Amino acid sequence: MKCPLCKGTMGKSKTNLPYEIGEEYLVVVKGVPALVCKQCGEPFVEIAELRVVEKIVDSAKKDGITLGIVKYKEAA
Ligand SMILES: [Zn+2]
Repeated sequence: MKCPLCKGTMGKSKTNLPYEIGEEYLVVVKGVPALVCKQCGEPFVEIAELRVVEKIVDSAKKDGITLGIVKYKEAA
């Protein structure tokens, strides 16, 4: 696939996804599998990975984490 911004080549890589909800809540999910543009660095995360990220953010919320960094893991 080509980069939607610059049409550069995308390669498999990892990215960090910040999740911000309101003013009180910010969790960064680290090491999310993504396609990253080799030219401009734009990350593209697929729906399947986004669903996992949402679950990770949900369980972090349940653990009472409102500010922090959590690692991506498939089994979340
Ligand atoms: Zn690009």
